[in-house]
Amino acid sequence: MTATTQKPALNLIDGRWTGEATVERGNPADPARVVAVAPSSSAADVDAAVTAAAAAQPGWAALPPPARGAILLDAADLLRSRHEEVARDLVAEEGKTLTEAKGEVRRAIDVLRYFGGQGWGAEGEVLPSATPGTTVLTRREPLGVAGLITPWNFPIAIPAWKLAPALISGNTVVLKPAELTPLTAANLARALTDAGLPAGVLNVVHGSGAVAGDALARDARVVALSFTGSTAVGLSLKQTLDARRARVQLEMGGKNGYVILDDADPATAASVVAAGAFGLTGQACTATSRVYCTPGIREAFVEALAKAAESAVVGDGLDPRTTMGPVVSEAQLAKDAGAVARARAGGATIVAGGAEADGLFFRPSVVTDVAADAEIVREEVFGPVVAVLEVADLDEGITRINDSPYGLTAGICTTSLSAAHEFSARAQVGVVKVNRPTAGLDLNVPFGGVKDSSTNTFREQGPRASDFYTWSKTVYLGHS
Ligand code: NAP
Repeated sequence: MTATTQKPALNLIDGRWTGEATVERGNPADPARVVAVAPSSSAADVDAAVTAAAAAQPGWAALPPPARGAILLDAADLLRSRHEEVARDLVAEEGKTLTEAKGEVRRAIDVLRYFGGQGWGAEGEVLPSATPGTTVLTRREPLGVAGLITPWNFPIAIPAWKLAPALISGNTVVLKPAELTPLTAANLARALTDAGLPAGVLNVVHGSGAVAGDALARDARVVALSFTGSTAVGLSLKQTLDARRARVQLEMGGKNGYVILDDADPATAASVVAAGAFGLTGQACTATSRVYCTPGIREAFVEALAKAAESAVVGDGLDPRTTMGPVVSEAQLAKDAGAVARARAGGATIVAGGAEADGLFFRPSVVTDVAADAEIVREEVFGPVVAVLEVADLDEGITRINDSPYGLTAGICTTSLSAAHEFSARAQVGVVKVNRPTAGLDLNVPFGGVKDSSTNTFREQGPRASDFYTWSKTVYLGHS
């Protein structure tokens, strides 16, 4: 089923594809099959990439925004023409199903279109002044060189939704993608260079976070760093960036909860939770991982959710019968299986899944009879594992949702408008979903979390995504 053969994913520095590709990436559906090989970049490689980005920045910023936007729009068209191949490469190195991968590539295309179109948008405001004969203008100025560090789970959508607002606002970029997914990052970069992006405007440096990512975070010329990944890495990066007073945007882990009230339909609630918990193999920052049911619906909901888990066809993402792909790596599999095994050892009931994995294929798992403070309820697993608990009512459900260091997404299934409103107002999260899966976001609306899920300053995506990559300047224009 694995159609892709091994492909190189080189660094892109100053418009040249460079570096010695030595790090092999195996297909999660068949780990012995190497699908990509990429450089293990050093701090010197990062230095060269930042040097190129710094040199290219004034020229890029001097281009009129519609001309910058035209390149993003052309890159979107190129990616569209390569949609199938790029999606297959994504499946081969990350593991999600082809349908999911096509959706993600589609998202990257739309993101490039959305921000490409912003090249024709308003740049600032015109305001009145108290001084006669004076007009006040505001301008958004680019920051300079932006560093981007991205995870493996959305290997094209996340780099796209960071680099597109950075580029349209006149910044140049150095991207350090996840070591597990170099090919998809290279495919995105190639679409942009083939669309005519000038040398040095986008640079890509493959390699480990500890070496290449760390060097990028420490480089004083990188005036802003946008990171998506785990909370532990994000918070340690923040110390480095705060120490040198760089602008930092962190979108991090989650432990997304769902409340199911008695008035909901159990089958509908189960399909909403299953989509959020098991879609993308549960490897989404927004995945549902804990559910709180009121007493009247708990049993019927658990039965329906277990049925949904059992009906999953787990296999190679390129097999059209597959509804859930493999886990991304041995390390992630150990996290998923370990979390379920420790819950079982602590007295939990494993209602579905939880069996030994076959290769990196791990069945979606539903766990009940766990305490509110159990590890599986509090710690992010980042796999297709969901714990179901009982709460007395909406109030206790909201209390449990908020009893977490994380605050990314949360949802509620109910037919009560007032319950939906109360939940939306009181949930301490960045995104609330009512009767919709916690995972799945529109590109034209703000996205981000609170608490340990985010720096919660600048939001990603939507009309204000460029704010992170710009500063506001006020100009008093005297004309009489
Ligand atoms: P991760 O281990 O934190 O890695 C994220 C990125 O940081 C990778 O490129 C990684 O490089 C790099 N990195 C690791 N250590 C570093 C260091 N010391 N200095 C600089 N960079 C470093 O996270 P992951 O396993 O890839 O992704 C899963 C996590 O991301 C989950 O916690 C998930 O919730 C979160 N996530 C959040 C969002 C959101 O929007 N909130 C979206 C998606 C994922 P390597 O290549 O070496 O790993």
